[in-house]
Amino acid sequence: MKKLSGLTAKILKMAALTAVLICVCITAAGAVLIYITTEEGIKNEVNYAAHSLNSLLDSEFYGEYYLKNGSLYKGGTMISRMDFMTTVSSISCSDDVDFTVFWGDTRVFTTVKRSDGSYITGTSAEKKVTDSVLGKGIEYYYSRVKINGRYYAGYYIPIMDTSAKTVGMVFAGRPLDAARSNMRKIITCFTIISAAVLAVNLAVFSKFSSKIVGALLEVKSFMENVANGDFAADLSLKTLSLTDEVGDIARSADTLRYNLRDLVERDPLTTLLNRRSCRKAIDKLLEQNKGYTAAMADIDHFKSINDGFGHACGDMVLKELSAMIKEETEKKKGFVSRWGGEEFLIILPGSGLNESKKFLEQILEMVRSAEYVWEGKRIPVTITIGAAEMINGEIPDETINRADHLLYDGKESGRNRLVT
Ligand code: GH3
Ligand code: MG
Ligand code: MG
Repeated sequence: MKKLSGLTAKILKMAALTAVLICVCITAAGAVLIYITTEEGIKNEVNYAAHSLNSLLDSEFYGEYYLKNGSLYKGGTMISRMDFMTTVSSISCSDDVDFTVFWGDTRVFTTVKRSDGSYITGTSAEKKVTDSVLGKGIEYYYSRVKINGRYYAGYYIPIMDTSAKTVGMVFAGRPLDAARSNMRKIITCFTIISAAVLAVNLAVFSKFSSKIVGALLEVKSFMENVANGDFAADLSLKTLSLTDEVGDIARSADTLRYNLRDLVERDPLTTLLNRRSCRKAIDKLLEQNKGYTAAMADIDHFKSINDGFGHACGDMVLKELSAMIKEETEKKKGFVSRWGGEEFLIILPGSGLNESKKFLEQILEMVRSAEYVWEGKRIPVTITIGAAEMINGEIPDETINRADHLLYDGKESGRNRLVT
């Protein structure tokens, strides 16, 4: 199994705890509700069944109960087992409801059978039943009463003679094991559904959290690459276009990368490449076996511009001149760096000296004729360029030094020119 990242595991643990808690609570509450409803249902059913039997006997055998020669009479008519069974079978209730008619505490008629199939007539009711029903003459519901070794939920109604003396009881009851088996089935079903919902919830959550964490891990590895100086590192479009906070972090990390790259690779005043990143770019050319022409350009008498118009004016000239040279050089697929204070190194990849000469003369002319205006005054600016084409096997420093020496020659011979 794939090992979960620390964050995924934490999120899942949290989700699992909450989900388990909710499922357990819902299942427990559901089970209690089902239990209460079932118990109430059983109670109502046996109450109804006992009353039905009592009323049916009253309507079929009008008159009072009495015992004669061991047989139960009512209103002058002897009640036979057949009469009892017929009456009982006409009551609409669950199949497993048992009925009994007691004379005193003794079962005269009953549907409760022993394991050998014989009816338990002649046996007595439990003492707690006779104490309440016969003793007090009131109806009683017992949620748990033992009959013939089996527990019942039973309802007892006292039967009286004409002098309102309790002489017996009518009973209807349901064996608890059978009555509750449905309830157990429902609760089991309920628990299984809860567990399934829990499992689905965790699966969905796991997928959802790994999506978030996956994007975070991508940003993390991106930041590690940037921290190690790899500014070409990539963030997927999918992560960059997330509309949530993770997307915000990704976009900020991306912006941070560009700002950091500029800070490390570029000169802040002119935004040209700095010396370090220029060397890197030249190394890259060599890796691709590409030759180049290196041109070192230096502003003529720049010090006097600073002295005459102020440092801010000097900065303005540096910026405008840089932008101009950069724009033209990039058109030739080349690049420019600020090599020193007012010195620029122009690299023209794949260009021979003749081709480069033409381009560099254009640059000289462009710098010469451009208008640099400071506080309403036009400032004349010229540059001197020394250019050298890379010779096979030469390291960058050697080519650059040759260009630098040619620049020096240019300065010596009067400035405002290209020396190759
Ligand atoms: P040359 O023609 O021989 O190159 O003369 P120069 O005056 O240009 O050369 P020098 O080396 O004497 O002076 C360069 C000046 O450039 C000195 C320095 O203060 C100025 N400088 C260097 N960096 C900056 C900068 O970022 N801003 C401004 N305003 N001036 C700068
Ligand atoms: Mg100079
Ligand atoms: Mg200089």
